[in-house]
Amino acid sequence: MNKLFVYAEHREGIVKRASLEAIAAARDMAGDGEVTALLVGSGVDELAAGLGHHGADRVLVANDERLGRYSPTATPKVVAEAIGVAGASIYICGATAQGKDLSARVAARLDAGLASDVTALRLDGDDLLCEKPVMSGKAIGTVKVASDTVRLVTLRPNSVPALEADSNRSCAVESIATDLDDSDLHSIVTEAVRSEGGKIDVSEADIVVSGGRGITGPEHWAVLEDLADALGAAVGASRAVVDAGWVPHDIQVGQTGKVVSPGLYVAAGISGAIQHLAGMNSSKCIVAINKDPEAPIFKVADYGVVGDLFEVVPALTEAIRELGGA
Ligand SMILES: Cc1cc2nc3c(=O)[nH]c(=O)nc-3n(C[C@H](O)[C@H](O)[C@H](O)COP(=O)(O)OP(=O)(O)OC[C@H]3O[C@@H](n4cnc5c(N)ncnc54)[C@H](O)[C@@H]3O)c2cc1C
Repeated sequence: MNKLFVYAEHREGIVKRASLEAIAAARDMAGDGEVTALLVGSGVDELAAGLGHHGADRVLVANDERLGRYSPTATPKVVAEAIGVAGASIYICGATAQGKDLSARVAARLDAGLASDVTALRLDGDDLLCEKPVMSGKAIGTVKVASDTVRLVTLRPNSVPALEADSNRSCAVESIATDLDDSDLHSIVTEAVRSEGGKIDVSEADIVVSGGRGITGPEHWAVLEDLADALGAAVGASRAVVDAGWVPHDIQVGQTGKVVSPGLYVAAGISGAIQHLAGMNSSKCIVAINKDPEAPIFKVADYGVVGDLFEVVPALTEAIRELGGA
């Protein structure tokens, strides 16, 4: 029977949805086996029950005030030890920026196999098989994670739905000690500054509205933000507009930007270059708005609107507002 382990990432007192999705994936594969989640941080006990509501059987809590923020050197050590405590054979973590950094370090510590940024995973007998987009998303590769110890996976956000919270579902909560000395803490994050207050992270959003060079200038960007506001969406961008300095790089979608997999991706004034598609073609539903009927973006779109975005986008925004939002 497999024992599965999930690293539960949290920020500002809230567990990341990517971690709840990882618990759902673990729950799906565990069958009658145990799903253990780990919380690392300072004063994080109160988050444990919520992990149980979302499918964890057991929650390990590593409370240490030195770990109030993620430490690239100390947190992987704590996680590697907790995997041993859980006796886990499979580890799943959301493929967020922190999750990817952490998981590579844990894999190195445990000399374990790691499949990163997978979009689906399953057990075939004892084999752990993971699907991941390859060749800029043109193909899906199936990767078998081999390891004599634990097998590690990072799961792309929005690939697997989180389980509905069930407040009747409980979990065992156990504190675990952290065995850290100064040499483990030689790298610590002293401050985290949001680039812009309150904006939704494009790589974890369920709806993304992205704009490209068709927007024609930063003074018109508000047309896109209005639609994003109406939909409760994050705003993304093509590299062309990032390179032009209209918007910051942290919202760039694509091969050299962020990889997104939302339920809905709206591309306005984006041609659909292969490097852009690499970052968004695993979206569940793609809506393209472009005045050129030959634009490559239409090849991957589920719905295409051939038209001037300055007419189509405001009309869409108004219609969504009339319907009361997304
Ligand atoms: C190594 C490398 C890495 C790269 N990484 C990335 C990456 O991560 N992300 C990325 O996006 N790109 C990346 N690129 C760049 C990529 O090749 C394209 O140049 C870029 O995606 C084009 O951006 P765009 O679609 O906004 O602009 P364009 O290709 O110029 O397309 C603009 C589109 O807007 C449409 N349009 C114009 N006016 C209107 C209007 N009024 N209404 C409706 N439609 C209109 C046009 O028909 C056109 O299709 C990379 C390139 C390289 C070489």
